[in-house]
Amino acid sequence: MLYPIELWPLAREEGISKKRQGHYNGIHLVVYGRMKIEPGFIMETTEQKNLHETFMREALKEAKKAFQKGEVPVGAVAVFQNRIIARGHNQMELLHDPTAHAEMITITQAADYMHGQGGKDHRGSLEKVSLYATLEPCPMCASALVLTHCERLVFGAQDLKLGACGSLYDLARDTRLNHQLNVVPGVLELESRILMQEFFKNLRKEKR
Ligand SMILES: [Zn+2]
Repeated sequence: MLYPIELWPLAREEGISKKRQGHYNGIHLVVYGRMKIEPGFIMETTEQKNLHETFMREALKEAKKAFQKGEVPVGAVAVFQNRIIARGHNQMELLHDPTAHAEMITITQAADYMHGQGGKDHRGSLEKVSLYATLEPCPMCASALVLTHCERLVFGAQDLKLGACGSLYDLARDTRLNHQLNVVPGVLELESRILMQEFFKNLRKEKR
């Protein structure tokens, strides 16, 4: 499977284009001869796919917590060196705060963790951190990912109404901004979408 992410220039620096295989972030990549490789595209390995799904399942657990609390079921986790360093779910109703999105809560926690790791001069940036979100982030959350220099965004379902990572806008990959993320869309998309549909179906029933 090919994803339009910006990892490829980095992979090329590490010699993958010559050898047609190599390592990126400790993951073994093999580029098959028949595949046409364009800059900006990368082969996704089975290992990487499994890893994405493992962390997305954790984000889905968060989304389910939101569901049970009557919140729009969106969840997120932040991953650094293959470990979850932060997790969150929507808390807009609980906090009476329309900005209390799963991603924002997770980003704040992750920044705190990274600051703790990096010492007093570390400004809490999310370099080398991946954010997993069950839904495509909105403009606010996508901007927060850019501002924190988060390395990668992996998301589940697209949000055609508010998504700012490919649907309505593409803030995560806008080269006019000073940072771009690698974006991996559609990981466990169905699970995330079903949860959202279920939530809004129940909401409509209650309103009747
Ligand atoms: Zn958001």
